[in-house]
Amino acid sequence: MRWPAHGTATRLAAKHATKIRKAFKSALDGEEIAASFAQTHPAGGSVSPSLARDWAQIHINAAKKPLIEALTPLYADGYVLGETAATYVYAHLIGFKKSPTAQEMARASVVDWQTWTPGNKAAAALLKPKNGLQSLLDSRALTIDGILSTKLDRIGTILSQALEVGVAPSQVSILVDQVINDPERAMVIAQTEMSRAVSVASRELYQDSNVEQVEWLVAEGCADCQENADASPIGIDEEFPSGDTEPPAHPNCMCSLAPYIVSDNTDNIDLSVQPDLIKFVPSKLEVKRALSRLKILPNPPDNVEDIDIDKLVEVPWQSIDPITVDPNIWDRAELALVNFPDLTASDSWLRRKKLKAHIEAMGQAVTSYRAFGLVVQRGEQQIIIDGHHRLTAMWLLGMQQAPVWLVKE
Ligand SMILES: [Zn+2]
Repeated sequence: MRWPAHGTATRLAAKHATKIRKAFKSALDGEEIAASFAQTHPAGGSVSPSLARDWAQIHINAAKKPLIEALTPLYADGYVLGETAATYVYAHLIGFKKSPTAQEMARASVVDWQTWTPGNKAAAALLKPKNGLQSLLDSRALTIDGILSTKLDRIGTILSQALEVGVAPSQVSILVDQVINDPERAMVIAQTEMSRAVSVASRELYQDSNVEQVEWLVAEGCADCQENADASPIGIDEEFPSGDTEPPAHPNCMCSLAPYIVSDNTDNIDLSVQPDLIKFVPSKLEVKRALSRLKILPNPPDNVEDIDIDKLVEVPWQSIDPITVDPNIWDRAELALVNFPDLTASDSWLRRKKLKAHIEAMGQAVTSYRAFGLVVQRGEQQIIIDGHHRLTAMWLLGMQQAPVWLVKE
């Protein structure tokens, strides 16, 4: 299994890295540091790197507040992303085992990770932080102490080197400023803290969902964490070999935490495929247009049972008589993208009211048991078995293609 939201975390982290750089700039003053160092370490002298680092730790006064403040929106964004991604992963995993609730599927099935942003949810999360977010917020000062200590060590090292090679005092502050303003370090901090917030939120969501075991998913290039992956699954309250209950295990660790759910069918799920299937999220305008398109769709040509014909719509595809399928058909279903013109219907009419509900739900499932329609590929034909209303609604919403569960016979 792969984690779907790595790229999203990196994209959000890049935004926060800029804010962290700004915070460092207001926390530390290169000119003041260089001047203060020069007072006790005159040009021509020398000092060992370790003594210079000690000097930096003791004598440099950093304003922690801007850094602590920079972590607040970062943690909120990461926490909301973690909740969203973990819900998505969990809902898709259990979707193969038992019926997720409509709410779970609705939240899980429309996520375009390439453009996803926490939006107002981050501010809302901060208004009433859940336990996981609260603990992240509570640990901000301690986290900043660690981050600052690393920064001061690097400043100490550069001061020692500058003295050693005789850099003019006026130039020393430029070197110190480069360390303070280092974009790469800011990105490492943003990624690591984003990863922490995502994982804390994931773990909390699994706990709330009564997941008993979790799995460490190693991010690409995170060789250090293989041992944690090898030890998976572990109990949700246990520690991985690195001593962590969730990622990150080290700076820049972008690993993730997945729920471990015992099922025969979950081995081959590649969640990273699914977001690409679901890029289309209709706007309110498209919903309006779809509703007016629905009004002009023709009634079926023949009377259907006892139903008022005005309440019905002719199915927009060529239709055939209902077909029989294997009752275990879902076991072989794979998520796939189908083109609307290629479809054949096994129902000949649809209910206007139900179509309207699907349009208003923006093409999402309105029943609780499946998020996507079911289509059987029989020879050249792709026959809709389940989801006529949903697929018609998506077509009316202007979609060219739709994700469905496809069974090849
Ligand atoms: Zn890692």
